[in-house]
Amino acid sequence: MVIIYSSIATRTPATTRQHSIPMSLDPSEFPLLLTPLRVGAHVLRNRVVMGSMHMRLEHLDEPMRRQQAFYEARAAGGVALVITGGVAPNREGVLEPGGPLLCDHGHAQTLAPIAVAVKKHGALVILQILHAGRYAKHERIVGVSSLRSPINPLTPRALSTAEVEQTVEDFVTCAELARSAGFDGVEIMGSEGYLITQFTAPRTNIRIDRWGGSLEGRCRFPVEVTRRIRKRLGRAFLIMYRISAVDLVEQGSTPEETEFLAQAVEAAGADILNTGYGWHEAPVPTIAYQTPRAAWTFGAARLKRAVSIPVMASNRINTPQLAESILASSSADLVSMARPLLADPNFVAKAASGRADEINTCIACNQSCLDHIFTGRTATCLVNPRAGREIEFEASAVDRKRIAVIGAGPAGLAFAVEAAQRGHCVTLFEAQNDIGGQLNLARRIPGKQEFNELLRYFRRQLELGGVTVRVNHRVQAQQLTDGGYDRIVVATGIVPREPDIPGIGHHKVVRYIDVLRESASIGPRVAIIGAGGIGHDVAEFLTAAPMQQTPAEFYAEWGVDLGRESAGGLRLAQVSAAPHEITLLRRGAGRVGDRLGKSTGWIVRDRLRRRGVQTLNGVEYRSIDDRGLHYTHNGTSHLLEVDTIVICVGQESDDHLASELRRLHVQFDVIGGASLATHLDAARAIREGVELAHANAMRQSYQHE
Ligand code: FAD
Ligand code: SF4
Repeated sequence: MVIIYSSIATRTPATTRQHSIPMSLDPSEFPLLLTPLRVGAHVLRNRVVMGSMHMRLEHLDEPMRRQQAFYEARAAGGVALVITGGVAPNREGVLEPGGPLLCDHGHAQTLAPIAVAVKKHGALVILQILHAGRYAKHERIVGVSSLRSPINPLTPRALSTAEVEQTVEDFVTCAELARSAGFDGVEIMGSEGYLITQFTAPRTNIRIDRWGGSLEGRCRFPVEVTRRIRKRLGRAFLIMYRISAVDLVEQGSTPEETEFLAQAVEAAGADILNTGYGWHEAPVPTIAYQTPRAAWTFGAARLKRAVSIPVMASNRINTPQLAESILASSSADLVSMARPLLADPNFVAKAASGRADEINTCIACNQSCLDHIFTGRTATCLVNPRAGREIEFEASAVDRKRIAVIGAGPAGLAFAVEAAQRGHCVTLFEAQNDIGGQLNLARRIPGKQEFNELLRYFRRQLELGGVTVRVNHRVQAQQLTDGGYDRIVVATGIVPREPDIPGIGHHKVVRYIDVLRESASIGPRVAIIGAGGIGHDVAEFLTAAPMQQTPAEFYAEWGVDLGRESAGGLRLAQVSAAPHEITLLRRGAGRVGDRLGKSTGWIVRDRLRRRGVQTLNGVEYRSIDDRGLHYTHNGTSHLLEVDTIVICVGQESDDHLASELRRLHVQFDVIGGASLATHLDAARAIREGVELAHANAMRQSYQHE
């Protein structure tokens, strides 16, 4: 089958296309989202705010140029207001050694170019003041009380009364310096479990001075910070307060206490209330793909009823349609999006010009953003590897070539789309009847349906780039040599590995592909051989309903309480019976699931444990027969009596085509799984596709961690 999108092939390549904001917007599709809003002394040009993200770009070369380019791209892409990543007001408050800090004029001068870069595109820019409190990872760590967080090995020293006073002053000085650097205002970070939340919640505040005790005492710190910033900087300075709308920890604030705080910071001078959900130590997923979209909007709606200043919804809002519906339901006045703007800096411009279907949507995987941050790397984005690396990609003229791309998995798709955008004439071949490669399996996992958005994006970009797509077409090397192509890119992906276990051909044995395609019948007792990402995904697939949960199902499973009196918004989680009895086995000695993503692995492990999935590591597989799986563990032989054995033991490069081409001495490039199957994921596949398409225009001199 051939799909040719040549009618629009003449469009300007995206690298040179301007995403300018149309002067007169067509308000029909997103009328509320695109309506300006007066806030304090300012007017926001629409209702989309870029939420704060700490990218760790300060750890790379040319850190300021990188940050400038990063923020500028988002401002040029149409957001109304940019909030910078968190900046500490004093040395105790930085998250890690070398983290962003604003406590003198030198720091202010360094940050000033960010404000200039954003404002020249008509957006407002505010600086987030974040004091890490007991989440700090350095020796100067301080806390409201000397109580260690379960996610930090370091115990904080409790601030003295005089030090609390000084810390309030440090916040105010930081705001003054932000204004001197050209920022329109500040966001006071009062959520996610950082210092301010540690003041407001009984969980972490056991002080007996005026900064603790009663509700007024616990709220005194954020109220004083807000009040003094307003007093010192006047009405024109924008003050956003990010409130922890739901703490999601035991001994957290109740909704009534949160409403009290919201009203108190409004009275103290806040212009906007942003909302946050869950502390970093919360046992509930708040932004990962397992969380239904817009699951937390109820928190913003609750606060909107309590205050008269604009309230902003946040967390797991990733499409303009969803944002519009939140505004339409009057749950919030503004919508904050952070990761969706990593995924696509031109989110607003596209939504505003009738091109919402061209948006590269954040799939909430956390793989290249939060997981990078949590493992000491720089953040970027799985679906958009240019994020945070804007200065490495240079627009340059291309010598138009005829290119054949073989394999329409994420590597081949990313290359084809980018090469076509650069003006090349691309033909994409795929052996299956549709594009997507393994993403077509990934999107069957509960919650990973978000991969559908990525496929929608690729499909649309193939159209726009005029790529000829030939599905149901398994390419042979000879065909390529006869095709007269200037360049050949092999992206044929992987084939699952078959383990060498006696009895592997037994009828009880099935491959993960057959399970996910539902072409294999699965008995009640299941052994999964291989406990990597795919093994865990198969366990999820077999124990959960196949679709994304509704918010109500999600609240029930994770014990989220929408009642007014519940401390931290938690109640007893419900456990639903799993349809299969599953054992997940691993050969290696490490803990089962220890190599899953830092920010999503705990969710998968916790969920499977609660659904009764058993895990076993350090296993040697002996044989498979009618009785089940025979294995050795700690030198003793065992039999696992199961009806089905699913094989998930990794993969090997599909190098049939590459070997043939080598034999014929044909030059080609190879990307994704076809190049290297170990540690493969969609992030690497897409990155390799994008980088190869820009290879001759990329700045190679930049250093990465
Ligand atoms: P593939 O996706 O394997 O694509 C290769 C394509 O080439 C295939 O469509 C194949 O049909 C085609 N092809 C092969 N030979 C030929 C030929 N001769 N002619 C024409 N076409 C050919 N990754 C993540 O990052 N995050 C996740 O959450 C995630 N979840 C996953 C869940 C599951 C269940 C699975 C199976 C994978 C998951 N992955 C995930 C992994 C991710 O999907 C792969 O790493 C990625 O798809 C590899 O991309 P690729 O383009 O190299 O290869
Ligand atoms: Fe979203 Fe994943 Fe990109 Fe992070 S890496 S911004 S979660 S798509």
